Amino acid sequence: MTHKDILSILKRETTSVDYERFLKQLIFKKNLSDDNLAVFEVPNKYIANWIKTKYINIIQHCFEIADGSKPKIDIKLAGERKKTKKEIQDEQEKVTHSESTMLNPSYTFESFVLGASNQMAYNASVAVAKKPGIQYNPLFIYGGTGLGKTHLLQSIGNKAIENGKTVIYVTIEQFMNDFTFSIKSKNMEHFRTKYRKCDILLIDDIQFLSGKEQTQEEFFHTFNELHNAKKQIVMTSDRLPSQIAGLVDRLKSRFEWGLTADIQIPGLETKIAIIEKKSELNGIVLTRDVINYIATNLDSSIREIEGVLIRINASANLLNQEINLELAQSLLKEQIKEQKENIKLPDIITIVASELNIKPSDIRSRKRTAVVANARRVVIYLARELTHNSMPDIAKFLGMKDHSSISHNIKKANELIEKDENFKLIIENLKNKIINKEW
Ligand code: ADP
Ligand code: MG
Repeated sequence: MTHKDILSILKRETTSVDYERFLKQLIFKKNLSDDNLAVFEVPNKYIANWIKTKYINIIQHCFEIADGSKPKIDIKLAGERKKTKKEIQDEQEKVTHSESTMLNPSYTFESFVLGASNQMAYNASVAVAKKPGIQYNPLFIYGGTGLGKTHLLQSIGNKAIENGKTVIYVTIEQFMNDFTFSIKSKNMEHFRTKYRKCDILLIDDIQFLSGKEQTQEEFFHTFNELHNAKKQIVMTSDRLPSQIAGLVDRLKSRFEWGLTADIQIPGLETKIAIIEKKSELNGIVLTRDVINYIATNLDSSIREIEGVLIRINASANLLNQEINLELAQSLLKEQIKEQKENIKLPDIITIVASELNIKPSDIRSRKRTAVVANARRVVIYLARELTHNSMPDIAKFLGMKDHSSISHNIKKANELIEKDENFKLIIENLKNKIINKEW
């Protein structure tokens, strides 16, 4: 089997994103390999870890497809000494053990840009990665969508793996699926061992535990067991534990035992630094005025900023021109226009109702309870911000006779955004979810 053969099989057997980003960097070392051992070299340890956690079995499978052999796979760094059979064996067992760990190797503390908006969450994450289970247990990171929660969470994982810890990273949805599957297949033992035997459990988007009673019960036991054994638990959420509706009190209180750290919307300087870092990492050359333009015109989500960078770069390549302010401006304008055309009033009602835990029909009703009035105000504000609808259009849609109350509601919402942190967070979250169509 040659280097070329193995890569072409890998390309066929894997997703193109993974292949282009990581797998094609594998170099097959035929001279170091034999029938029972296939040695590969990669340029750095992040890629090595990533391939080890995610692709060892598939690489082995490629050999099987090609020539029926099933060699042990060794991924080493370029220039590293040859490992003993025992070391390779140990490594592979460890990988099988941490089967849920699918960390993105580019989410590291080094690639995370520090600013006032995320300093506390960052510092706590570094502390936890260095000394898991000692301080801040659990660590609960919360903040709006696209602001770097998953990036920080996985940075903890990547760092801890480097330090030889066993890490499990899952979204709460994966935990839930795993749990349901284990009940069905009557294999709870395996499930419990897996989640209770790690050094660090990283759970992403815990807000989705809302209303899932059985999973909450199981997670409660997992939590207690890990916490008692002084194992580290880190969770992320788009809101504070106390704001997660349908979460049992004993979990709410436990989530606040350690440290809750928020990530806020970055200020202009941090945004600029993030744009510089991301463009550098992606090999995109931007002038100062383009960077400033993007930073001032996109406000609430880093994910969105990244999307814009990629689009600008792609069109510059296509047009075979340099990225200049004009190009950035026209793309951004087009994007905002498209966004507004794509967002419909019923969608806003659906998502606001679901996030604020009321019935969609209540928002269009004549009810005047505080909860309904607040939800209606949020809908009105978002409708004005995110769509092309006029005030009379919005009034008509909501069954309100008088559109002067629309402007009154918008004024009130703006006041609340100024002085009520929690209201502001809810609005930012909803805005991102609507823009990114996350419902
Ligand atoms: P969340 O989980 O909060 O929704 P993510 O962690 O997925 O957000 O972040 C969205 C994108 O923004 C990721 O590509 C991440 O790398 C990037 N990002 C967010 N904050 C930062 C930061 N401070 N420095 C560098 N990249 C960041
Ligand atoms: Mg996330």
